[in-house]
Amino acid sequence: MAEKKEFQAESRRLLDLMINSIYTHKEIFLRELISNASDAIDKYYHWALEHHEEPGDLGIRIELDETNRTLTISDNGIGMTKEELEENLGTIAKSGTLAFKEELKKQDKDQSDIIGQFGVGFYSAFMVADEVTVYTRAAGSEEAWEWKSQGADGYEIEACDKEERGTMLVLHLKADDDQEDYSQYLQSYRVQDLVKKYSDYIRYPIRMTVETTQEVDGETKTVPEEKTLNSMVPLWKRPKAEVTEEELSTFYKQHF
Ligand code: ADP
Ligand code: MG
Repeated sequence: MAEKKEFQAESRRLLDLMINSIYTHKEIFLRELISNASDAIDKYYHWALEHHEEPGDLGIRIELDETNRTLTISDNGIGMTKEELEENLGTIAKSGTLAFKEELKKQDKDQSDIIGQFGVGFYSAFMVADEVTVYTRAAGSEEAWEWKSQGADGYEIEACDKEERGTMLVLHLKADDDQEDYSQYLQSYRVQDLVKKYSDYIRYPIRMTVETTQEVDGETKTVPEEKTLNSMVPLWKRPKAEVTEEELSTFYKQHF
């Protein structure tokens, strides 16, 4: 049986803001979720060293499903226990999101402005999704948990099956409307561009299966191919002229 829980009041406020956001750069949700996946892999790496475990192939995967309107981001990072799930996704106690909340309190500023200034974290998923499901299994744990939320109503937690360590986030995208084309986040080329734009320097491979056209016996065929979308080159190793303002400010936000 799933347990139904309410969000803590402050989370709820932030969530409402995200759900009803008219912010024009909703696309940043992907950078936020990828950054969380990358942080989780960092944490697992340290855990593995401490526990004398071979970390193996560490990475992030994106899957697009047009039929079901889902965008899925998986990582084989540290994962979360049931308690961590509740604490991390049900309350605001965390760095980026906390700073964002403080700023919201202080200023009577255009809220979309503030969204742009901060890493707004996990809840940014609700700018583009009407339902978010998180499947997660913590390193060293036999149990796996499913967290599901449609936003304001709260969330549900129940046990689930998950073979591998880490976290899988399934975003069910909102229906397109006059203002917003959410279906763009189901388009392979669009998602590839976004990863390049915001997450290129992430130091673990971000992989996706893409359709490529190939010549097979004189015929042009579309063949699925596993592709790594990011270069993994740190910002400071890239030619200055190539690094955009956006990338720089994202980088600073996430590291300092
Ligand atoms: P921040 O990244 O600034 O801490 P977020 O709102 O982005 O804030 O994330 C909240 C917390 O949820 C993270 O600190 C982390 O503990 C947890 N979390 C989010 N995504 C993942 C993930 N993919 N794997 C493990 N933990 C995660
Ligand atoms: Mg984050």
